[in-house]
Amino acid sequence: MAADMHQNLEILYTRQQIAERVAEMGAQITRDLNGEKLVMVGVLKGAAPFLADLARAVNVDATFDFVATSSYGCGQRSSGAVKLIKDLDEPVEGKNVLVVEDILDTGLTLNYISKLVMAHQPRSLSIAALLDKPSRRKMPIQARYIGFTIPDAYVVGYGLDYAERYRNLPDVCVIENPETN
Ligand code: 5GP
Repeated sequence: MAADMHQNLEILYTRQQIAERVAEMGAQITRDLNGEKLVMVGVLKGAAPFLADLARAVNVDATFDFVATSSYGCGQRSSGAVKLIKDLDEPVEGKNVLVVEDILDTGLTLNYISKLVMAHQPRSLSIAALLDKPSRRKMPIQARYIGFTIPDAYVVGYGLDYAERYRNLPDVCVIENPETN
């Protein structure tokens, strides 16, 4: 699905810009791991395309796991409380864990997931977020690996949705008046 099919979408990062940045992030993660193994924990559903690309950009012995959360309430923004929908499948005790998330906004979701993973006593825990909106932060969460720092706009594409739509856009786009499209 192409962004130009929708009048209310404006491309923020093209698929090529994303691919270049993800390759750089993968190289950095590879360097930092120094030959150690990695468990990549994707946050469903939005991080699926990012995890798929990032996993192929790291040159390490990696396995995948997934968690899913939802925020109580509905609409575009987190309401505050985070609910666990799907836990880790495998214990991560003593392992290097990289939580892979589409966007870091208030930090509530990653704060919750970090605590969940830390309870398993991993060897290390880091976060990779494709996008970061630091101006919206409510929790002091920082990602070690950030793709792009963006202003406070609602974005869709490359896994990110509006009411479950637009996840399959290859570009990251700002959406305006989503109800009209
Ligand atoms: P946080 O808990 O950090 O506020 O938000 C994390 C989640 O909120 C993300 O995983 C994503 O599902 C959603 N979110 C926050 N900002 C945006 C945005 O601009 N676009 C979309 N599609 N989802 C967002």
